[in-house]
Amino acid sequence: MQYTNLIWRDGQPYSELFDDIYFSSDNTEHISGESEFMHVFFRHNQLAQRWPDSEHFVIAELGLGSGLNCALTIREWLKHCTTCDTEKTLHYIAIEKHPFSAHDIAELLSRYPELKVICDEMLKSYPPAVEATHCRTLFDNKVIIHYKFMDITQALNDEGLKVDAWFLDGFAPAKNPAMWSAEVFQQISKNSAIAATCSTYTAAGFVKRNLEKAGFEVNKVSGHGKKREMLVATLQAKDSPVFLYQDKPWFVPALQIPGLQVKGSKTITIIGAGIAGLSMAFSMVKRGWKVTIIDKEEGIAKQASSNPAAIVYPRLSANNDVDTRFYLSAYCYTLYVLNTLQETSTETFWFDCGLQQAFERKRINAILQHFEFNEDLMAVVEDSVESRRKDSHSEISRLSEDKIWLDYKNAGVVLPEVLCRVLKERCGDALTIVHENIDALRSKNNRCLCFSNSQLINEADCLVVANGVSINELGISPELPIESIRGQALVLQANPNTDADSKTIDKGTDKVVNAGVYFTPALTGKHYLGASYSQKNQSTVVDAEENISLLQSLDKIYPDGFTLDDVTESWVGFRCMAKDRVPVVGALPDVAFFSKNYSDINHGKRNKSYPAAQYQPGLYITAAHGSRGFTSSFLSAEIIASQISGEPSPVNKDTLDYLSPSRFIVNKLKRG
Ligand code: SAM
Repeated sequence: MQYTNLIWRDGQPYSELFDDIYFSSDNTEHISGESEFMHVFFRHNQLAQRWPDSEHFVIAELGLGSGLNCALTIREWLKHCTTCDTEKTLHYIAIEKHPFSAHDIAELLSRYPELKVICDEMLKSYPPAVEATHCRTLFDNKVIIHYKFMDITQALNDEGLKVDAWFLDGFAPAKNPAMWSAEVFQQISKNSAIAATCSTYTAAGFVKRNLEKAGFEVNKVSGHGKKREMLVATLQAKDSPVFLYQDKPWFVPALQIPGLQVKGSKTITIIGAGIAGLSMAFSMVKRGWKVTIIDKEEGIAKQASSNPAAIVYPRLSANNDVDTRFYLSAYCYTLYVLNTLQETSTETFWFDCGLQQAFERKRINAILQHFEFNEDLMAVVEDSVESRRKDSHSEISRLSEDKIWLDYKNAGVVLPEVLCRVLKERCGDALTIVHENIDALRSKNNRCLCFSNSQLINEADCLVVANGVSINELGISPELPIESIRGQALVLQANPNTDADSKTIDKGTDKVVNAGVYFTPALTGKHYLGASYSQKNQSTVVDAEENISLLQSLDKIYPDGFTLDDVTESWVGFRCMAKDRVPVVGALPDVAFFSKNYSDINHGKRNKSYPAAQYQPGLYITAAHGSRGFTSSFLSAEIIASQISGEPSPVNKDTLDYLSPSRFIVNKLKRG
C-alpha cells in the first residue's frame, strides 16, 4: 500500500481515481467541508442529543479522506467531554482504502486553523501506509481512532464493530458504486449497535433501497448547500442471529460481562509479570481499571521476558496470510507504543535502529509481490548495510546467491527489563504486584477467583492468564498444547572496531542483523547475540558449548568479530510456544458447552444451526508468544481489553479466530 497523492483542482481537494472532490463547494471562497459536516453528519446523527447518555460511542466513517470530518467530530466530542463528570471514550473507525500521508492531511487541514491542536494530535501518531487496522489513542484516552486502511468490504468483514453512527462519505454513488453496494449495507447492518443511525449527503434511489433492504428505516431530509435532499436512516430492531456451520459459531467472540459497563471500580487480575502481563496491565489501566498482577517469582520480567535484549520485527509467511497480517499489525502497533513511551521516558529501552534479515530470494520476492508492502516498511537490499558503508574497511559476509537481505527501516531492539519497569511505573497506583504461587482459578457468580494451596488469594471482575510456560499449572481447562523452548543469548563487549559510534568503524553495524542468529549494534557499549533454540535441553544452567556455537554462527555474518573473551553475560530462558506456533489470545472457552453443542461438527453439517460459543465468564489468556513476545504482546493485550470493554476489535475477525484459545478444542472436535 502507498499513500495517495493530494491533488488540488479549482481550489478543492480532488481525486483523480474517482474523478470527484473530497468536499462539496458552496460557491463561496471557503471550502464548505465544515458546514457540510455539521449539517449532514453531526446534526442528522443527533450526536449532541445521544452523547450525554453513552459511556463510549462508536462512529464509523466511510471513508476518512482528508480527515476533516474526523477532526471536526473530535472537536465536538472534546467540547462534550468538558460537560461530563465521567471519563468517556469516542471510538472513531476511519475506513480508507487510499489514505493520504500525514504531510498531505496537515496541508488539507491547515485551512482550518482552529483545528490545529486536533490535527497535530492526530498526526503525531498517524499510521504508516500499511493495510491493517491501526488504533491510536488521543487526548488522554478521550478518543481512539481505529484507522482501517483497507477496502470497505474487508474493513466491514467483521460483525463486532457495534457502530452507533455511520458517516457515509464515499464519493458520489455514481462515481464510486462499490462503496454503496447492497453487500456493503448488509455489512453495515451486521456491524451496527442497537438503533444505529446513518447519514449521507446523497439521496440516490438505490442507496435508499439498499439501506432499507439492510434493515434501516430511511427518511429524506433537506440537503446541504446545492443538494436538495439527503438521507438519514435508523436501524430497526434485529432478530437474534442464527449461526450455521459456515458462520463458525465456535468463534463468536465472548460477550461483555453483564453489568460491567455501569460498574464504578473495575478490577482485573493478571497472572504473570512478564511482557504479556505488563502490556495487559497497561491496556487496562488506560481504560480506568484497577489491576493486580500475581507472579510466583520476585520482581518483574522473569522467564522469557528476562532476555537481555529482544528484537521487534514482523513475521512474514509465504503461505499464511492471516499470520503475516497479525504480525504486521502487531509490529506497527508495537512501534507506535514503544516510540510514544520512549518519547516521554528518561530511561532508554527502545533502539529503533532498523534490522536486516536474510531471506531466501525466491520466497521473499513472492511475499513482497503478494502483499505489495510499502518500501518505507520493508525493502530488499542487494548488499548489506556494511558493504554499503563508505568508510567500511571490512564487510559483513556476503550472502549466498539464493539469499537476499530484507531491510526493515523502523524495526529495533528493546531492553526488556527497562521496558517492563517503565510499564509498571506508567500504571502507577492502579497496579499492585503480588508474589504468590497460584495453583487454581475459578469463575463464580461473575467473579474470577485465584487460589494458592486452596486459599483464596484474590478475586476480581476479570482475570487474564499471562504466565508463559506455566499456564497449565493453574488448572485451567482446556489444558493448552504448549511447549517450552529453551533459548540462550550472549552479551558482548563492544570495542572501537564494532561500535558504530566510534570514529574508527571497522566491523561496526548500525542495524540489527538477523541471519540464523540476531546480532545488535552496540547499544550503550554492548552487543546482544541470540538466541539458541532447543526443545530437548531444558537445563537452566548456561551451556558453554551453546555459547561457542552462537559465536560460530556470528562468525558467519561477522568473520573474526568476537571471541569468548568478549562475552560479558550469558542468559538462559524458556519461551512458551503453542504446538501450532501461533499465540493464544482471547477468552477461555467453556469446555463442557463446546463438547455438548459442537460434538457433531466433524460431519461438517453445513446447514445445521448451532448456538454461539460460550466462555468461562471473565477468563482470558494471552500466551504462547514464543520468541516474538515483544512484538505481539501489546496488540494481544488490546485485543483482550477491547473484548472486556465491549469496544471495536483492533484486528479483523479472521485474526481473532486464528488466535482464539478455542481453536484447539474445535480442531479436536472436527477431527472427531
Ligand atoms: N470524509 C472525508 C473527509 O472528511 O475529507 C472525505 C471522503 S471522500 C469523499 C471518499 C473517501 O472514500 C476517499 O478518501 C476514498 O479514497 C475512500 N474510498 C473510496 N473507495 C473506497 C473503498 N472501496 N474502500 C475504502 N475507502 C474507499
